[in-house]
Amino acid sequence: MTELQTAHWLGLDSSHLSPIDDHHGLMQPTKQAWLAMVEAAANDGLTLNLVSSYRSFGRQQVIWDNKFNGHRPVLDDHNVPVAMAQLTELEKILAIMRFSALPGTSRHHWGTDLDVYSKPLQQQPLQLVASEYQSGGPQFQTHQWLQQRAHEFDFFFPYSDDLGGVACEPWHLSHRPMAEKVESMRQPEAILDAIVNANVAGQKTIAANFDTLFARFVSPISRLR
Ligand SMILES: [Zn+2]
Repeated sequence: MTELQTAHWLGLDSSHLSPIDDHHGLMQPTKQAWLAMVEAAANDGLTLNLVSSYRSFGRQQVIWDNKFNGHRPVLDDHNVPVAMAQLTELEKILAIMRFSALPGTSRHHWGTDLDVYSKPLQQQPLQLVASEYQSGGPQFQTHQWLQQRAHEFDFFFPYSDDLGGVACEPWHLSHRPMAEKVESMRQPEAILDAIVNANVAGQKTIAANFDTLFARFVSPISRLR
């Protein structure tokens, strides 16, 4: 396997990944674990599909900049659009980070993390809201299966609980052995450098508040299951 470098976990270089199909790539060990889990689910009559896997810094920046500049809606905890034009830069950043990662900090840059659903169970377009995965929602069965079995394939749910930063994301799985490797290498200074270099929207305010943002939205994850 390619030795992991800073550009890999920043989402600036995807040469450490192995493709799954035209749209998705993961680190080789994560890909193997994913495919084994897909097969186990299929044996239980359940189809597992990827919503997202690897996402580059550039792609994350498009999402971020569009939200920051009001070109893409930012929702609050009740799925109501936030009136972004009325907010200070810091308030905008806090609103976005509840549901979207700051470029350079997304676990989707790593090739170890993925969002899962079951296509056959989803009659309406997938919105990726927690209610879809809760009791009565179309993805409830999928979520229950994953809660029972994902750990057998070394996957865990880093956003299973709302820890006050990133909102609960019951669809997001992380491949523990690889993700812990990346986490141990991660340097906040390199992330901030990349944000400034790429001229990410709101970068001055991001830089001025970086430690606080990192401590609230990036470091805290659920590690138990
Ligand atoms: Zn995700």
